Amino acid sequence: MKKITLLKGDGIGPEISESVLKIIDAQGVKIDWDEQLAGQKAIDKYGVTLPENTLNSVINNQIALKAPVTTPIGKGFRSVNVELRKKLNLYANLRCCYNIPAIKTRFDNVDIVVVRENTEDLYAGIERQPDENSAESIKIITKDASLRISEFAFNYAVENNRKEVCVVTKANICKLSDGLFLNCAREVAKNYPQTKFREILVDNCCMQLVQKPEQFDVLLLPNLYGDIVSDLTAGLIGGLGVAQGVNIGKDCRIYEPVHGAAPDIAGQNKANPTALLLSAIEMLKYIGMKNDAESIKNALYKTLNEGILTGDLGGKYTCSEFTDCVIKNL
Ligand code: ATP
Repeated sequence: MKKITLLKGDGIGPEISESVLKIIDAQGVKIDWDEQLAGQKAIDKYGVTLPENTLNSVINNQIALKAPVTTPIGKGFRSVNVELRKKLNLYANLRCCYNIPAIKTRFDNVDIVVVRENTEDLYAGIERQPDENSAESIKIITKDASLRISEFAFNYAVENNRKEVCVVTKANICKLSDGLFLNCAREVAKNYPQTKFREILVDNCCMQLVQKPEQFDVLLLPNLYGDIVSDLTAGLIGGLGVAQGVNIGKDCRIYEPVHGAAPDIAGQNKANPTALLLSAIEMLKYIGMKNDAESIKNALYKTLNEGILTGDLGGKYTCSEFTDCVIKNL
C-alpha cells in the first residue's frame, strides 16, 4: 500500500482534510496515511513549527498531501511553507488554473499554468532594521535557481503540449536581480525552439490577465510575483476555494492548495474542500491511480454542476454536506 505523508494543517485544514480523506476512502483507494504535524499544532506539541519527524516522513515517503498551516506572526518562527520548500529543496511550485465548467466566472477560456520559483527572492528571509525608522529586505536571485526553474517550465511545456512560456519580471526596475532571472529564461528558451517564448513586465501582466487571460499559457515567475499572480489567476477561475497546487523537488513532492488557513471561517464547516481535493486528484494521477483520480474528478464536477456549492462560490452548502454529495456521485 502506498505510504503518503499527511499534514492536516491549521485553521480550515482539518475540516478540508477530513473531507478529502472521506472522499478518497469512499472511492476505495487504499493509502497508508502517515499523519505528521506542522505549524501551530507542532508548536503546541513540540515547541517547533517543523519537527524532524515531519521532515523525515516526507523525505522517506517522497510524497505528501498538505492542508494549509499557520505560522504565528512576529514570534520568531519562520514560515513553515518556506522552511519545507527550502529544506526539501522543492524548487518548483506549479499551479494549474483552468475553468471548471460549473463555476461561472467572468472568463470562459482560462487555462494557465503558473510556474513559480520556490526557494529564493524576497523569501530568503534576509531582513534587517538599521534603525527604528527603516527596514531592509534582501532579494536573492541566483543563476543556478533561475536556470533550474526555467528548464522546469520549458520541460513542462514540452511534456504537456503547451505552446508558449511567458517569463514575468520587473527587469526594467530590478535590473540586476530580475534582469538575471530574465537572462536565464532567455538562455534556456534557446534550447526549446518548438516552444514560443515571451517576456512581460509583472504590472502589465496583471492588467492583461484581468482583461484577456486566454492569451496566456505557461507563466514563469520568480517567487514573490509567482505568489501574487497565482492568487490573481485563482480569482479568474472562481477563487482560492478551487485553486490547486504542488511543490516539486528532485526527490519529493508536496501537494497543497493555493489558499491559506482561512482563520476567518475556521471551525465553522464553511470551507470549500475543492482546492485540496483537486490537489489530491493530481497526486493520485502522479502515483499511477489515474482511473480513481478521474472518477473522483467526475463526481466533483457532477456535484458542482448540480449547484451544490459552498459559500465562497455563492452557495449555501456546508463542507460536510458538499463532501457527502461528492461521495454520493462517485
Ligand atoms: P496565506 O498568506 O497563508 O496564503 P491569506 O491570508 O492570503 O493566507 P487565506 O487563508 O488564503 O488568506 O484566505 C483568504 C480569503 O479566502 C479568506 O477570506 C478565506 O476565508 C477565503 N478562503 C481561503 N480558502 C478558502 C476555502 N477553501 N474555502 C472558502 N474560503 C476560502
